[in-house]
Amino acid sequence: MSVRLILVGPPGAGKGTQAKLLCYSLGIPAISTGEIFRAHAAAGDELGKLADSYTSKGELVPDEVTNRMVTERLAEPDAAGGFLLDGYPRNPAQVGALDGIFAELGIELDAVVEIGADDESAIARLLGRASEQGRKDDTEGVIRHRIELYHAQTEPLITLYRERGKLIEVDGMGTIDDVAVRVREALGSFLDARA
Ligand code: ADP
Repeated sequence: MSVRLILVGPPGAGKGTQAKLLCYSLGIPAISTGEIFRAHAAAGDELGKLADSYTSKGELVPDEVTNRMVTERLAEPDAAGGFLLDGYPRNPAQVGALDGIFAELGIELDAVVEIGADDESAIARLLGRASEQGRKDDTEGVIRHRIELYHAQTEPLITLYRERGKLIEVDGMGTIDDVAVRVREALGSFLDARA
């Protein structure tokens, strides 16, 4: 199915996991800006070094860098049949950039899925993950900063997309399967109601 989605939610809400499950069932690529930055950092290239100097502190990578990367990624052939953006846009300026990319490509956004999680549960999940994955930005101080930035810069996007009639809210608490079912059902009814 050709569907264009955005997944938004605080760090620790399980966006990456849900993005993969949903994309597998829809047959579309999951495009995670955070993952792309981590892949470049692991490769040790220029973009990776630049990104790492921000991500390791829990700061946002500068918009011009991120926007260019997303523009290039969305122009790749596998994105022509739909995609899910995980972790982008992350502030109002990135929404403007994404609107421009969509206009340029002549495509429309279908829906924004918000996966909600309260701060303390999100922090507990991330600290648990830190011991398994060893992500540099999963220390308590950096986690708290990422969550602060989420409230200050990313949360306003929820209101914005709600006003555009694109927002689907899903509770991110519970097991991975519980949340996956909620996401699929909520998205299914949203798209059916629109059809
Ligand atoms: P999380 O949602 O748990 O913070 P992500 O993998 O989405 O994890 O992002 C990790 C880091 O990558 C962010 O803290 C930020 O530094 C950087 N990053 C990811 N997406 C963006 C974006 N859209 N704009 C700027 N920086 C980003």
